[in-house]
Amino acid sequence: MAASKRRKSVACNVGGVWVGGNHPIVVQSMTNTDTADTTATANQIMELARAGSEIVRITVNTAAAAQAVPTVVDTIRAFGFQTPIVGDFHYNGHLLLKQYPDCARALAKYRINPGNVNIGKKHDDNFRTMIEAAIEYNKPVRIGVNWGSLDGELLTRLMDENALLAEPKDARDVTMEAMVQSALLSAEAAERHGLRHDQIILSAKVSTVQDLIDVNRGLAARCDYPLHLGLTEAGLGAKGIVATTAALSILLQEGIGDTIRASLTPLPNGDRTEEVMVCQQVLQSLGLRSFTPQVAACPGCGRTTSTFFQEMADDIQRYLREQMPVWREQYKGVEELKVAVMGCVVNGPGESKHADIGISLPGTFEEPKAPVYMDGKLLRTLKGDGIVPEFIGILNDYVTRRYGVKAEEPVAAE
Ligand code: SF4
Repeated sequence: MAASKRRKSVACNVGGVWVGGNHPIVVQSMTNTDTADTTATANQIMELARAGSEIVRITVNTAAAAQAVPTVVDTIRAFGFQTPIVGDFHYNGHLLLKQYPDCARALAKYRINPGNVNIGKKHDDNFRTMIEAAIEYNKPVRIGVNWGSLDGELLTRLMDENALLAEPKDARDVTMEAMVQSALLSAEAAERHGLRHDQIILSAKVSTVQDLIDVNRGLAARCDYPLHLGLTEAGLGAKGIVATTAALSILLQEGIGDTIRASLTPLPNGDRTEEVMVCQQVLQSLGLRSFTPQVAACPGCGRTTSTFFQEMADDIQRYLREQMPVWREQYKGVEELKVAVMGCVVNGPGESKHADIGISLPGTFEEPKAPVYMDGKLLRTLKGDGIVPEFIGILNDYVTRRYGVKAEEPVAAE
């Protein structure tokens, strides 16, 4: 089943990357370094960008972080990265943006949390100051509501109103409504203060799948701002990946969502780029975008007593990922390539024939040979210890031949 038609939204320019409208759904990520540590932050941004993050957000929480922002941005630009850098502000964003104009200028977008920007104030002065900075420097903002820091006053009012109803809704539904209203009322206020409609992106993040689906359906139905999707505090390992995938997939399938982030908790010293790969894989699995050639590998079973084919599938997937930064430039369309690495004769030849290029490895008790299929036809059979490098050689030739720039046809003389 194809994804539903994409919800119509206005397009917002985030430092040269378009979010919303008819533009592809954007993959973004966030650093976990101390922003004041400019080397660590610039390095992590570049790692994320190399992995395919099209926008990267950094924390701007202190004077030192705000002062570091221009250096971080200049450093990554010096290394050739044009990735827009977004500042994540809470509590003191109004002060930092005012006191550090170079920071305000260097950032491509400001994230404002309406739940904590005006805490303890009667008026929205702090929010207004941030919006004025966005107007002055012509930057978009993301109004990012998070249920962990939901506007308490608004929630209390909606709860009180709900209690007076003949049939009150349950507290969870009122909370979801408060999140939608918090985002919409803040966007309305931003426009009232002079921000253009197309300078606003909205998000409403919660930590459970069903809540995320409901709150974003609510937002999608009531505005045309681009929506940033993400399950907040998704968690560690498989739990975080599965929950994020489940939530994002349902919304994206309904045409909701213009940019996505996977808020995974990496293990200590774990790979931060995993969150980028998860986003890319969600979009590619849904057929919404292509980023990297896909390897179909069987799960293995009692017919494969060695781990050889699992290792080979992993080697090939890793090899393809490693080539992508170069291949992406040299071989247009290579991200659509489909490769199969299969464990035995049962499904191996069939699956390999469906891929652009596939290999069917010998299962237990099968003759030790591995037929390679290309464009649905048997190409040759590999044997011996060099199967992996030989297969990679065949793969390289295929990519060059199929996706390489074709020599111009000679023009016949008149
Ligand atoms: S292709 Fe062979 S090894 Fe792989 S799961 Fe199927 S039967 Fe098992």
